[in-house]
Amino acid sequence: MCRHLGYLGPAVSLAELLLEPDHSLLEQAWAPDDMRGGGTVNADGFGVGWYRPDGSTASYRAAVPMWVDGSFRQVAADVRSGAVVAAVRSATVGMPVVPGACAPFTDDTWLFSHNGRVTGWPDSLAKLAARVEVVDLLTLDASTDSALLWALLRQRLVEGAEPDQAVQELVGEVVATAPDSRLNLLLSDGTRLIATTWTHSLWVRRTETAVAVASEPFGADTGWMEVPDRCLLVADTENVQVSSLSEGER
Ligand code: GLN
Repeated sequence: MCRHLGYLGPAVSLAELLLEPDHSLLEQAWAPDDMRGGGTVNADGFGVGWYRPDGSTASYRAAVPMWVDGSFRQVAADVRSGAVVAAVRSATVGMPVVPGACAPFTDDTWLFSHNGRVTGWPDSLAKLAARVEVVDLLTLDASTDSALLWALLRQRLVEGAEPDQAVQELVGEVVATAPDSRLNLLLSDGTRLIATTWTHSLWVRRTETAVAVASEPFGADTGWMEVPDRCLLVADTENVQVSSLSEGER
């Protein structure tokens, strides 16, 4: 199952963040440590989204393994940002392998990633999907569970929901209609990282100036904390809060 990563802190190059560290996202594409629920490598594409200094988003997505994309390597050395969401993809069986299926899904404000799968998709989400504006359904980036989850979440955000609330409610609604789904979600607005654990791994590391969350630790080998299963994490460069998705705060 895919590996994803979010970073907030001093501006770094995409290469320093994603390609160069020990057990980088690049390495997690071909040699992940903790795949659960099927899949052995994350070779069905990758994506990187980042915030520009003016707060708008940009992204690079490709339906090839991260390690074969020499053009990305060139760009990654030069692009710098202090807020990044990136993912390498192992497509769920039956879902298309196209750039638009690779996280992060984005608009001008948000970057979103999903590590997991929705059971019984698409039928299981048909009722929930009826809430999404038809034009947004017709212009989904790809016909995948993750793209539909993004449309569902974005609708709530556009309607003004608090992002942590919106993420939490989405997990609750999807699990109610599609039990046994795997729902590690990751959302950023460039100042916060909001993430869930629902059957996949997630780690967090905060230093004096930066915070990173990742499916698997990379870079420094100290300071990483594993986020327990079925939790909501809300982090910025000052604070990391982890609360249970079913009970009170931890
Ligand atoms: N189900 C999603 C997809 O196919 C995410 C896959 C994953 O986490 N491995 O894109």
